[in-house]
Formats: sequence, C-alpha cells, structure tokens
Amino acid sequence: MKIIMLGAPGAGKGTQAKMIADKYKVPHISTGDIFRANIKDGTELGMEAKKYMDQGLLVPDELTVRILLDRVGADDCKNGYVLDGFPRTIPQAEVLDKALADRGEQIDFAIDVDVPDENIVRRMSGRRACPACGATYHTEHIPPKTEGICDRCGKELVLREDDKPETVSKRLKVYHEQTQPLIDFYSAKGVLRTVDGTQPMEKVFDSIAEILEA
Ligand code: ADP
Ligand code: AMP
Repeated sequence: MKIIMLGAPGAGKGTQAKMIADKYKVPHISTGDIFRANIKDGTELGMEAKKYMDQGLLVPDELTVRILLDRVGADDCKNGYVLDGFPRTIPQAEVLDKALADRGEQIDFAIDVDVPDENIVRRMSGRRACPACGATYHTEHIPPKTEGICDRCGKELVLREDDKPETVSKRLKVYHEQTQPLIDFYSAKGVLRTVDGTQPMEKVFDSIAEILEA
C-alpha cells in the first residue's frame, strides 16, 4: 500500500500518517522529519535545508527528490509506505511517478486532508513537537498528559521555528502556489481521496481507514 498525504502545512498529515503507519504496519516517511533530523545532527544536508525551511520556503526539488528516492528504496519499503510532506511540487510528483513506473508500481491513494486556511494558523501556533521522538501535540486539541512534556519520552516539547506566525503565512502562500496543484495531478490519475480535516483526529482517521479498506 503506497499512500501520499496531501494538505496544507498543519492540516494534520503527520498526525494521520503516524496512525496509518501504526495500523497498517507501513513506514511513515516525512521529508520534513528527515530534514529536521539532519539539522539536529548538523549534517551538510541539514545546513542546506535549514536555509530554506527557516524562511518558509521549499527545499530545492533536486535535493529533496534524492533523499526521498533513497529512502523509499530501503528494504522496509517493499510492502509500501505512507509519504507525509512529499511530493510538494509537480516536478517532485513526476520524478516519483517515473521511479515507480520503472518498477511497474504506482501510488494507490493520495489523501487530501482538507482544512481551510483560517484553521491552519491556529493549528500551527498550538503545535508542539518533541525534539527527541518527533511526536506532535496541540496545546488545545491534542494536549500531552503533562503540559510541555512528551508523553512518550518525557522530553520538553518545543514550538517549531517555522511554526511562528510570520513563517506560517509564507508557508501557506507557498502551499497554494506550489503544492495545491498536486490535487488536480492525483485526481487525474484517479487516486485522489479527500477527507474533512477539521473533524477530531479520530474521526479523520476513521474516514481514512474507510477509504483504505474499501
Ligand atoms: P502537518 O503534518 O500536516 O503539518 P500535523 O499533523 O503536525 O500537521 O498537525 C498540525 C497541528 O494540528 C498539530 O499540533 C496537531 O496536534 C494538530 N492536529 C492534527 N490533527 C488535528 C485535528 N483533527 N484536530 C485538531 N488538531 C489537530
Ligand atoms: P513539514 O514537516 O512537512 O511541515 O516540512 C517542514 C519544511 O521542510 C517545509 O516547510 C520545507 O521547507 C521542507 N520540506 C519538507 N518536505 C519538503 C518537500 N517535499 N519539498 C521541499 N521542501 C520540503
């Protein structure tokens, strides 16, 4: 099962992708997480990606595609995966398509988690992430058991640098210009499914499970 999560930044792609990965036993692959891990480790890739991420811009396609193709080529991806945050541009989608077609494979579902812009800014300002394990919470909607502390590993939660309001509006603009066209791209391939991302996360997941199991 090869799944792509589409949607604006903060729509809940990561939250749902983790739930899909848990239930259907496929790896959750987030290019954003890969970049953040590299930034944390101070790698060359991390330093390059940070220049763009901090400004709310996309990391160049060439670099992103290389990382992604390398990751989906790993052994644990043989039975599928859920991609979160990739592709984000038409050229990225085309490269992925071609790489899959060369192996006689294709994407099974592109799930668009639909959330209007008005809700996004609130979602992002309340998002808190664990710098150690990558778990995400929301101060109002999905709070950790102890305020500011990760349920899973006990580390202090942080507000992502690129979730500050100035950067969020830039990221939304970039989303509408460069990523939203993917909705038509996958619709034309007949694999697009849309879920209402404004519902509570369990309800969103029920809608996704219904699609995957239909
Ligand atoms: P994305 O991966 O699309 O950027 P996230 O999954 O990190 O988005 O979700 C963004 C924020 O919204 C997080 O703080 C998350 O806890 C919260 N969130 C996710 N899904 C929902 C939901 N259905 N309702 C309310 N808040 C949600
Ligand atoms: P995310 O965690 O998915 O919100 O991604 C955080 C940031 O990483 C984005 O705002 C981009 O700067 C960068 N990024 C993640 N995935 C991609 C991608 N597929 N293409 C370009 N940039 C990306």
